[in-house]
Amino acid sequence: MFRNKTSLFFLFFLVIVTVSNCQEGIKTTDSLAFAISQLNDGPFVFIEENQLIEKNIVNGEIITKTLKPNAFDTEFLPDPVFFNEVKKIAAFSDLHGQYDLAVELLINNNIIDENGNWDFGKGHLVIVGDVFDRGPKVNEILWLIFKLEQQAITNGGRVHFLLGNHEYMVLHGDLRYIHEDYVLSSKLLGKEYHELYNNNTVLGRWLRSKNTIVQINDNVFVHGGVSKKFLEKNDFTLKIINDIMRSSLERTKEEMKVTGFYKTYYGKKSLIWYRGYFNDDLKEEEIDEILGLMDIEHVVVGHCSNKKVVQLYHQKIFGVDSSIKKGKYGEILWIKNKHYSRRTLEGKKKEFKEKK
Ligand code: CA
Repeated sequence: MFRNKTSLFFLFFLVIVTVSNCQEGIKTTDSLAFAISQLNDGPFVFIEENQLIEKNIVNGEIITKTLKPNAFDTEFLPDPVFFNEVKKIAAFSDLHGQYDLAVELLINNNIIDENGNWDFGKGHLVIVGDVFDRGPKVNEILWLIFKLEQQAITNGGRVHFLLGNHEYMVLHGDLRYIHEDYVLSSKLLGKEYHELYNNNTVLGRWLRSKNTIVQINDNVFVHGGVSKKFLEKNDFTLKIINDIMRSSLERTKEEMKVTGFYKTYYGKKSLIWYRGYFNDDLKEEEIDEILGLMDIEHVVVGHCSNKKVVQLYHQKIFGVDSSIKKGKYGEILWIKNKHYSRRTLEGKKKEFKEKK
């Protein structure tokens, strides 16, 4: 009798669960189908046995094309690390998939024209890391930078795309921060998201040619910052530091953790994670010491979000993460000859106010 009652109860329970699961199931499938039908992404260019295969997602359908073998470069030399006598520099960071806002900012400040082409002459544009993660238009930004880089060189200028902690996270397969659209895109393409940027893709190879830190005139640009701790462990030789970071992309986190390597290059005081200029209450003498060890005058960093581009320590440090990730507003650091100013989203020039 007891057993029968229990069975009956379980049967009843099962029916309820099944019904509610089905309803859930139908709802999820519908909304998923709708989300897929709205999905547009790409291009992703895969390098397969000396062939270039381009895949685009158009309204949820994958369109595959075989490109001419010379449609894109597939070999990229590491970017140079040192530039001198540059008269115009613009820098911003932490774009985090906010393509539309980034484009608006670049157009309004005459770095690109209305058609998205280079309009900055011999100027240098520095993207101080973190194009990946959070927002929905990462791939669009990557292709824009890819194009502008070529156009800038043709015009005697330069684009520097420096890798931030989020580039390193994605390229190491840490996908905790990708936008939900990219979960769908990569599933549709039958890949893990980071495989869309692996060494058998055009953008993946290109990303692996990028630097983490560069020097332009007497300014160093790097996503997190250069800590005293980091300088104690490294000679300040930019080429070597960049090569170490670049080759670490091919190493696993576990393997790097076996030695002190991970702590030095991926820890809290590393180039890509350091927040000390903002959070550690350093004395100005400590900043002077760091700058002295590098034999430079200014460090430009991203990574710590502010409402606008900020200066610290009498313009020795500049923070260019102006919270573009929120998709509402952003600014650019503007360096003309030796003068530093901010440029607003509307393209207005603003001087830094020194705190007394
Ligand atoms: Ca960051």
